[in-house]
Amino acid sequence: MNYATIKNNDIANGPGVRVSLFVSGCTHHCKGCFNEVAWDFDYGTPFTQETIDSIIDMVSKPHIKGLTLLGGEPFEPQNQPAVVELLRQLKAKYPEKSIWAFSGYLFDKDIISGKLGDTAEYLSYLDVLVDGPFVEAKRNLSLRFRGSENQRLIDVPASLQSGEIVLWEDWQGQKKGMGK
Ligand code: SF4
Repeated sequence: MNYATIKNNDIANGPGVRVSLFVSGCTHHCKGCFNEVAWDFDYGTPFTQETIDSIIDMVSKPHIKGLTLLGGEPFEPQNQPAVVELLRQLKAKYPEKSIWAFSGYLFDKDIISGKLGDTAEYLSYLDVLVDGPFVEAKRNLSLRFRGSENQRLIDVPASLQSGEIVLWEDWQGQKKGMGK
């Protein structure tokens, strides 16, 4: 796998200050995509154990809430092994850090259906999945952590446990003073 960018103080892609990894390679080719250069699987820099070590070091800082995976497409089958290896090592050291992922694939139809291979271990590390492609006609700038209205903020552990899609409403609770 190659990656396009790593941001070490990202406040736009999940709650709190986060490290964000933008992987290379995406087959969705959404019209109006925010990161078209990362469609190419060969774009950017090779993702190595050194990259993993460096990300884990960035995430270890006390002010960092967790890691966000974006792209490109972090669920493309050819990107999954490298991402899972990163999550495996990160969670072994810092299980309290949250993991968010953005995918153009759908949680139910594509990911848990097995269409993209066995994603059980990958999903076991995720807290929130923002799913679905960016749809320009449904673009809405007022949405937090999403570009278009079709995309869903999915609470992954709750959804896996209940067998149906549970949306992540945490940030709304915090807004109303009812958050954790
Ligand atoms: S899924 Fe994301 S990275 Fe891929 S084309 Fe759509 S908006 Fe761009």
